[in-house]
Amino acid sequence: MNIFQQVKENVSTRQAAEVYGLKINRNGMACCPFHHDRHPSMKVDKVFYCFACGEKGDVISFTSKMFGITPYEAARKLAEDFQIVLEKQDNKEKKKFKKQAIPKRNAFQLTREFEKWEQFCIRILSDYLHLLEDWKVRYAPQSFDEAWDDRFTEACKQLTTVNYYLDILLEGELRDRIDFLSDKGEEVKQLEKRMEQFRRRNHEENGRGSQQDGSQLRTSNACELV
Ligand SMILES: [Zn+2]
Repeated sequence: MNIFQQVKENVSTRQAAEVYGLKINRNGMACCPFHHDRHPSMKVDKVFYCFACGEKGDVISFTSKMFGITPYEAARKLAEDFQIVLEKQDNKEKKKFKKQAIPKRNAFQLTREFEKWEQFCIRILSDYLHLLEDWKVRYAPQSFDEAWDDRFTEACKQLTTVNYYLDILLEGELRDRIDFLSDKGEEVKQLEKRMEQFRRRNHEENGRGSQQDGSQLRTSNACELV
């Protein structure tokens, strides 16, 4: 299980919202922190959905948006705030490996540079994974004959691969992680650029027609939660 799955399994959006200061009434409704909300418009449970502004997501996106941090940082924050003991198989593997005699030709790969590079890749892949999970829901076609949004297509295509990559980095043997970084490191670097492009595109789209987007979300998803 990667860090997102572990966190989501242990904390609901409702628990996080309460700890981070939202008042939730008996019907599970709270004032939405993402728009100027005077009467509770946000349904908060395992996930959240605001009936007024259309904002929605899981505990990771909630925390990420609330504190203006990346999904990966949000997952780490939640793990810390809720004292979730994360599986640390990777560290165990690292220690085991260090105890053995390290062949000289590999010594340079075990420097801090390697660890920094590895952490960078984990962060990028985690953020990308979270984005894909969001796209898969947010841009899912609403009917059979509707053309697929390119973000939905990308999510369907990439989710398994990205999960697999993260599993290697978070739980793999050191040898596999070194191989992965030398094979796929550049690919991961490109993902960072791609996410930046999508962020800009989102920004432009929201600037152009946020009103329209909001109302579409409202009608298409209202039935999920009520
Ligand atoms: Zn709202």
